[in-house]
Amino acid sequence: MSTSTVLETEEHQALRAAVAALGKRYGRAYMTSLVTEGAHPRELWAEAAKAGFLGVNLPEEYGGGGAGMAELSIVLEELGASGSPLLMMIVSPAICGTVIARFGTEEQKRQWLPGLADGSRTMAFGITEPDAGSNSHRITTTARRDGEDWLLTGRKVFVSGVDIADATLIVGRTEDARTGKLKACLFIVPRETPGFQRSQIDMEVQAPEKQFELVLDDVRLPAEALVGDEDAGLLQLFAGLNPERIMTAAFAIGMGRYALGRAVDYAKTRQVWKEPIGAHQAIAHPLAQAHIEIELARLMMQKAARLYDAGDDFGAGEAANMAKYAAGEACVKAVDQAVHTLGGNGLTREYGLASLITGARVARIAPVSREMILNYISHQTLGLPKSY
Ligand SMILES: Cc1cc2nc3c(=O)[nH]c(=O)nc-3n(C[C@H](O)[C@H](O)[C@H](O)COP(=O)(O)OP(=O)(O)OC[C@H]3O[C@@H](n4cnc5c(N)ncnc54)[C@H](O)[C@@H]3O)c2cc1C
Repeated sequence: MSTSTVLETEEHQALRAAVAALGKRYGRAYMTSLVTEGAHPRELWAEAAKAGFLGVNLPEEYGGGGAGMAELSIVLEELGASGSPLLMMIVSPAICGTVIARFGTEEQKRQWLPGLADGSRTMAFGITEPDAGSNSHRITTTARRDGEDWLLTGRKVFVSGVDIADATLIVGRTEDARTGKLKACLFIVPRETPGFQRSQIDMEVQAPEKQFELVLDDVRLPAEALVGDEDAGLLQLFAGLNPERIMTAAFAIGMGRYALGRAVDYAKTRQVWKEPIGAHQAIAHPLAQAHIEIELARLMMQKAARLYDAGDDFGAGEAANMAKYAAGEACVKAVDQAVHTLGGNGLTREYGLASLITGARVARIAPVSREMILNYISHQTLGLPKSY
């Protein structure tokens, strides 16, 4: 990949190089062995954290690196490009860390940020519900007061990493005392809280991180479990969603680069006629296209990260959605072309590319699907009418 100091500072380039060197020592073989063993990427997580990579976006006074999403997205992209992405970076430092750093009480910041920054603690994020799906306005997980405590009841689905996370940041609703309307609010729910039940979903995605269905049945939480202020829930949610989209773009770009790299290496040496297969334009052009589309997606991701880090939440919202869309599509195409380039070997366990087909589709569906981004751009950017 070519970079220049016009788009990225020397510090950014040094960060890329350092993360790439770490990723190279782990790589796809490490991830594949974890999936086989049902284990988690603890060693890589710990090493990345020790080097300051995982908390690079969190405030310095709480043990973070004091940088932003531009830097955190570089970390995830480079780990992905080496074949060993850390999915939980999307939720733990990016969503949960950001929400707590921006909106948490002083006590919550002191309790959580140093651990999220040094990797000793992890937090999952649960918003998706079985009966709401893409329509998050329809979520029904509800908190009601019981004396000083909260009682939280509802269901969530597809929540990643609940088994390894010390707590899950749950998006719910409370009733507005004045209007009786339900309003969004976020709760920190420690993993072993009584009534907080999880069951693993059997997914086709081959990744060490697992997805869970959650049932919360009158889960009793202390007053301090509510993040920040009861009236700032929606603002908090939006603050967390932009980093989530930027980081999903980074995840997709990393995976796309990894698959493309493998295909290019193969196409340079595999020879069945006079020249290596990479000399045939039917192989070369789709790979060149995949490269262009990945580069374009990265540009949009860089724009989104810059806007977000500069405090322009509104501008970042549009750019982060477009970056997630572009990166998801570029990743799906790159992986598809990579598998095809390897012919029969593209479908073998030995080469390990076919399982990325499912992995790449995650970036098209989550955290917000391709269609919902197209809806957003149709309505918000183009001012077209809504069909739903
Ligand atoms: C591997 C993985 C990890 C995940 N991790 C998490 C996590 O950690 N936390 C979490 O909260 N969630 C997580 N999710 C959930 C993810 O965010 C949702 O799957 C996603 O938001 C889509 O919701 P849904 O699956 O209910 O699909 P649905 O909302 O049922 O959508 C199904 C299809 O219909 C389309 N559709 C729906 N409405 C419209 C419309 N108005 N116009 C056009 N098309 C429409 C969608 O685009 C999609 O293609 C994860 C999902 C996966 C696969």
